[in-house]
Amino acid sequence: MKISVVGTGYVGLVTGVSLSEIGHTVTCIDIDENKVNKMRQGKSPIYEPGLDEMMTKNIESNRLFFTTDHKQGFEGADVIYIAVGTPEKEDGSANLAFVEQVAKDIATNIKKDTIVVTKSTVPVGTNHKVKQIIHINLVNDVKVDIVSNPEFLKEGSAIEDSFHGDRIVVGSESAQAADIIEEINKPFGVTVYKTDIRSAEMIKYASNAFLATKISFINEISNICERVDANVEEVAEGMGMDKRIGSQFLKAGIGYGGSCFPKDTKALIQIAGNVDYEFELLKGVVNVNKKQQALLLNKLNERLPDLKGKRIALLGLAFKPNTDDMREAASIVVTENLIKAGAEIVAFDPIATENAKTLLSEKVNYAESAEEAIKGSDAALILTEWDEIKNVNREVFDTMNYPLVIDGRNCFKLEEMRERRVEYHSVGRPSIN
Ligand code: NAD
Repeated sequence: MKISVVGTGYVGLVTGVSLSEIGHTVTCIDIDENKVNKMRQGKSPIYEPGLDEMMTKNIESNRLFFTTDHKQGFEGADVIYIAVGTPEKEDGSANLAFVEQVAKDIATNIKKDTIVVTKSTVPVGTNHKVKQIIHINLVNDVKVDIVSNPEFLKEGSAIEDSFHGDRIVVGSESAQAADIIEEINKPFGVTVYKTDIRSAEMIKYASNAFLATKISFINEISNICERVDANVEEVAEGMGMDKRIGSQFLKAGIGYGGSCFPKDTKALIQIAGNVDYEFELLKGVVNVNKKQQALLLNKLNERLPDLKGKRIALLGLAFKPNTDDMREAASIVVTENLIKAGAEIVAFDPIATENAKTLLSEKVNYAESAEEAIKGSDAALILTEWDEIKNVNREVFDTMNYPLVIDGRNCFKLEEMRERRVEYHSVGRPSIN
């Protein structure tokens, strides 16, 4: 199959590279010239384990191409995937401008019958809108079928997820188009779930909203645990043993971030609102998350009310481990507040530092290792559970100005911190020393 993928972010690039890996000829299109130049040289503009190697391999096998030119990129394509961003608008709804632009580009450039597949996360009804835009703007007399194929990959394990995902959702009005998309994906060996377009669009939002709900739920439980001297880790383990609940996404922390959960939960509240339905539960989930993101700062303020001139180590900047994505990362709010309070910040992240520099205050200093950041600090705050942070040399706590660690991701065992005489505050567990 000859496939084009429009947009080479976390979703588009991983989709393009994975489809080329299973034997398809894929052209990836992006409007960002710098990105395209980099990718042509086999260098991924995003950090994703295993991606660079797979990219290089398929470029060398002449199965993977990159261009900024839509016309050239669509040439001869049987299937075109839309994988551009759908960021949040000010009112919380999804901005569909990029998707709509791609629909126009498709209409004005294709010369043969094509299946258009939307991978981007889009509100219910968008695929029908895409179909309309294409039909209004079509230049040549060709047939276009629309398929909704929402993406479920997780940043940090995106390649692994493409080959071992839980399901591939395919929504279409055309059984033939759905069959072709199923066939394309067959080598992945992942179960294909076929449905109608609107249900496929909804599955994506409902799935993310449910996962976000699980996170906010366990965070609420953790806040109660702190007040009744229970340990949320033990509680979550005991809960997760019940198969109806499941053990995943029951990790208490400082809330969810990233490019999906915050925007998709708000978009679903909007989608419901548009049909006069108040999604009360999800509104609660979003509010709980906002509250949870302030937890570290609140705990720090309780211990150090005056942060002026205090040296604070910030450990982890990305919104989660194994990604360089800083979108909606808790570190953004935390650094802003610390700087406002006059603190001196020394931050460490193994991968996201370059992206962080473009987003965080210029006043933030960066260390090469967790140990370097911690040394001489008045307090260390843990924001992301990178292995480099979980496995930090414990002796470094002896080099702090005062051994105060406030851990938003429960990286260390309580016993260990007690023995080391570290004053340790974590999430939903008793404070130590
Ligand atoms: P991204 O912002 O990382 O990448 C989008 C890319 O599209 C950019 O490189 C941009 O330059 C390009 N682009 C914009 N307009 C274009 C056009 N007209 N032609 C060609 N390229 C264009 O986005 P992402 O994180 O990959 O997300 C893409 C979509 O997938 C979103 O709807 C998102 O919600 C969804 N999604 C994301 C994830 C994730 O983990 N990032 C997971 C599942 C679904």
